[in-house]
Amino acid sequence: MKIVIVGGVAGGANVATRARRLSEEVEIVLLERGPNVSFANCGLPYHIGGEIADRKKLLVQTAEGLRQLFNIDVRELNEVIEIHRSKKCVSIRNLSSGEIYEETYDHLVLSTGATPLRPALPGIDLPGIFSLRDLADMDGIISWLDLKKAKTAVIAGGGFIGLEVAEQLHRRGLSVTVIDSNEQLLMPFDLEMSAPIAAEVREKINLILSDGVKEFTQSGDQLEVVTRKGEKLLGDIVILSIGVRPESELARVAGLELGERGCVVVDKFLQTSDPNIWAVGDSVELKHRVSGKAVNIALAGPANRGGRLIADNILGKRREFRGPLGTAIIRVFGLTAACTGLNERTCRIQDLPYKAIHLHPNSHAGYYPNAHPIALKLMFNPTSGQILGAQAVGEDGVDKRIDVLATAIAGGITVEELVDIDLCYAPPFGSAKDPVNLAGMIASNIQEELVETISWDGLSAVKGDVVLLDVRSKLERDKGMIPDSLHIPLPELRSRLNEIPKDQTVIAYCQSGQRSYNACRILLQNDVRCMNLSGAYKTWSAARIT
Ligand code: FAD
Repeated sequence: MKIVIVGGVAGGANVATRARRLSEEVEIVLLERGPNVSFANCGLPYHIGGEIADRKKLLVQTAEGLRQLFNIDVRELNEVIEIHRSKKCVSIRNLSSGEIYEETYDHLVLSTGATPLRPALPGIDLPGIFSLRDLADMDGIISWLDLKKAKTAVIAGGGFIGLEVAEQLHRRGLSVTVIDSNEQLLMPFDLEMSAPIAAEVREKINLILSDGVKEFTQSGDQLEVVTRKGEKLLGDIVILSIGVRPESELARVAGLELGERGCVVVDKFLQTSDPNIWAVGDSVELKHRVSGKAVNIALAGPANRGGRLIADNILGKRREFRGPLGTAIIRVFGLTAACTGLNERTCRIQDLPYKAIHLHPNSHAGYYPNAHPIALKLMFNPTSGQILGAQAVGEDGVDKRIDVLATAIAGGITVEELVDIDLCYAPPFGSAKDPVNLAGMIASNIQEELVETISWDGLSAVKGDVVLLDVRSKLERDKGMIPDSLHIPLPELRSRLNEIPKDQTVIAYCQSGQRSYNACRILLQNDVRCMNLSGAYKTWSAARIT
């Protein structure tokens, strides 16, 4: 049997090595257009900033290593230019010699990835405007920074790669501006969850939201970025990180089925519409594990795991890829943000029955030094208790909570079951009631109708018809409050119940939502209609400072 693999990085290299581990007999040809197979795309920003000092560390495996260790026929600088499905062969251009030749296959695997978007804006081809996809891009960026002794940078796009590069250029001592046409950074997150990241970014660099790049011009030695709103930003370098487009041209020309966004359609075995052709990674669309809708998730995890699964399936196992959750994480200066599953925006667009809760627990026991608050958000189906998605932001402990919740989603664990999930605890690491348990408790309280909640963005619709009740201390209130709210600190609530109008709904808030939940329980048992403001003042105020 002969397997030909197009693309030799995340997905492709995994297919090749797993196939060899399963069979010493199979012939494996790995074709890579670029000069390097199996490099660490995810590490590229960190070499630009110097955090990964040694460039060699980015070469996860070399062509020579793959040949020696795995007996794989690796051909770098070889580009597949056409698939001939009826003949079961591909045409390949050797980029060193220019020669075009053919290679037959029994099974063909496409792991061609995605290419950074480069819109046809005026001036886009000026020198000094870069994207970051591979080692050559990284080397080009570093050489330019050195050559120009760069002091300023403009980054178009505040997604994962844009922010990682921004952080690393700041680390190199550059003055950096990030511009994004959305009203928030990091679109996989909901606005109020990305807001703390925006605040953190603004402390270190210049951030422009709700404005996009219109054109680039040369201004002396520098590039001038003109925005749609007419701002002019000067930079010694510009990095474009405004998204990616699946590299699916080969598949399209070969007549394989493509989805609406031009991604290669694969089934649960990662087989394309041609049973001899498989596809994986950034160029495919898969069914989202929670929504079941087709999604294109350009992340390393699904590409690596999918590659392994394709090798299994070609070599006789019949494994199903259970679909991605889009679990992702980023460090932005002092903060970490992570997410899994669906965000609230998607729940709304897809008209799913959901409830969203916000909480602000500590990363570990508050009495132990260096505990930091985590802003945690959980979406769940209030009827079935199914967890739909989660997001978290904080200085510490974010990765652990989101990974536990991703595992819970994958395992079909309900919010009720989260209450009882047995997680490790000692004061330096967590709390006896871990944030994950607490999320389960809050969600279960809602399911059991012990309390109703309202989100920060639901407030404006009801304001005027409700009484907003601040149950925090005077000291906390003096530092900031929601306008037009009545103030009764929680310890005084039982003795001042006569001040609460009984003919109106009360929306209680404190700092994080815990004391206002207690207030709600008191009020509800005294025949006052009451709701708890989800995430309370912390979430409400975070959303207002984007
Ligand atoms: P790739 O790994 O991109 O490999 C595709 C390869 O196919 C390319 O090398 C290309 O040259 C080759 N190719 C394409 N067409 C042909 C052809 N016709 N013939 C021969 N070869 C061809 N993901 C995360 O989960 N976490 C992160 O922190 C993270 N950070 C990232 C940082 C950067 C800067 C980048 C660029 C990506 C990052 N990603 C991250 C995304 C992750 O790297 C991708 O999701 C993953 O590499 C996709 O794997 P793939 O095999 O589909 O494509």
